[in-house]
Amino acid sequence: MRFFTNISHEFRTPLTLIIDPLEQLMQNFKDDKNARNTLSIINRNAQRLLHLINQLLYFRRIENGKLKLSVSKGNLFQYLGGIFESFQELAEHQQIDYQFLAEEQNVETWFDTEKIENILYNLLSNAFKNTPVSGSIIMSVNFVQSEIENYIPAPFVSICIKDSGSGIAKEHLPHIFDRFYKVGQTNSENSFSSSGIGLALTYEIVQALHGEIRVESEPEKGSSFTVCIPYTNDRFGTDEISQTAALTDINIEDRVNVLKEQLIIKESGYETEDEMPDDNSKPILLIVEDNFDLRSFLMQTLRSGYRVLGAENGRIGFEIACKEIPDIIISDIMMPVMDGIEMCKLIKLDVSTSHIPVVLLTAKGSSYDQKIGYDVGADSYLTKPFSINVLKSRLKNILNARKKYSLSESSGFKQKRELLNESIGELDKKFLKNLTDAIEENLEDEELNISYIAAQLNMSHSTLYRKIKALTNLTANEYIRKVRINFAEQLLLTGQYNISEIMYRIGINSSSYFRQCFKEEFGMIPSEYLQKLKEN
Ligand code: ADP
Repeated sequence: MRFFTNISHEFRTPLTLIIDPLEQLMQNFKDDKNARNTLSIINRNAQRLLHLINQLLYFRRIENGKLKLSVSKGNLFQYLGGIFESFQELAEHQQIDYQFLAEEQNVETWFDTEKIENILYNLLSNAFKNTPVSGSIIMSVNFVQSEIENYIPAPFVSICIKDSGSGIAKEHLPHIFDRFYKVGQTNSENSFSSSGIGLALTYEIVQALHGEIRVESEPEKGSSFTVCIPYTNDRFGTDEISQTAALTDINIEDRVNVLKEQLIIKESGYETEDEMPDDNSKPILLIVEDNFDLRSFLMQTLRSGYRVLGAENGRIGFEIACKEIPDIIISDIMMPVMDGIEMCKLIKLDVSTSHIPVVLLTAKGSSYDQKIGYDVGADSYLTKPFSINVLKSRLKNILNARKKYSLSESSGFKQKRELLNESIGELDKKFLKNLTDAIEENLEDEELNISYIAAQLNMSHSTLYRKIKALTNLTANEYIRKVRINFAEQLLLTGQYNISEIMYRIGINSSSYFRQCFKEEFGMIPSEYLQKLKEN
């Protein structure tokens, strides 16, 4: 913790020097959409880092006993109303039924503004993060003046924030105020990376204020957090009371703005092929990453070289992969709903997608993780944080290696079966063998078409087409022709058939076309080929 504190202090100055000039840059680029997007990614994440660092520093103060109270006289009712209002615009945007239920009481109140602000920011922001559009959030304030059993001694103010959001499962409730405790991210809608600090800090601050915090929650119904804090000056020590009047400025605007951006992003979801520019020459790249900012940054940066698709978790990634058959996939490992390892496994086990190279992005660099990744068939690894240029060249190398393979494969069909061994996985070898067998069984049929073969292989026409292209760099019809000509060559080598018999067996009935195809494949027409063989 001490080490953290020391470096946290060191982080704050450079961070402020990122955030402040950024504001100026954002102003300068306000008409450039792409620049603005990138700058707001930087801003959001710098703000988030600053918020985290501030929270860590707060912890340190608590541990050192340095979190001194500074209680002063002021209008607590009005102050709470002010904090409530800071979230009003956000509530309107989210179409949340947002209410402040309280009756002003004519009582003298003493409180610590900064700490109340922190508590309420944490509770309200959690409510907003976990409540879907059109839900409700109610903040009720009660000044309790007579004793209630099992509560702190009266008088106290009870502030309750009740939401109609996702709720918290029973097994998590006892730990919800533990430091770094996060509720498992099984909720696909939750695109916030949680640090599990907010509630732990809230708990500590409430304790310092001689109060208590309670929670009630039910999954799918919502949660309600109640904070009870004394407000009369006799409940605080003399060293906790400050003589100056309470400062009622509220300083949470920046934080609420960042929260609003996150919520807006969460709704806008991910991009689909509808937004994909129609440029068929570029390979299709699928990016599977749950962090919105990282995903949109990658999508934006890689768009110049690829048609880019995005998915926010492994399950959606797998669905898109099956539907679009991308040329390459980049995937994060740790994701809600389905992680990258599981997705990679599904991709490599499904014959429609097994040929697609997968690059895994991981925060953990240990060889153990890499082994799991390679075991499920991942083609490459990149440890976060990575340089975008390294990623770009990695993608290029993988795709080029595929192309090279395809070229050497197409330069001689006979060697194909041996060549396949290193470059592609077992499932794909089997696929190519089945494909070739299916074609060979129907060679005599001149009209043999790809739909028939696709049906034989139990695959959609377009998936088969894309898969053949990815594995061999040939179109499906080129591939069928290739199988015909190579079969012809084998028949030729037996010496038992004349040209017209061979043509009949392979389903080609024009001899000039046969010669032309044969020449394309072997560099000479059949008679020259036979001649050459005899000479050797
Ligand atoms: P953070 O600071 O990362 O938001 P918190 O300590 O505030 O973490 O919250 C811990 C966990 O409790 C969060 O991961 C969240 O899933 C859950 N949680 C907190 N408040 C609510 C709420 N109002 N509704 C549902 N879940 C909540």
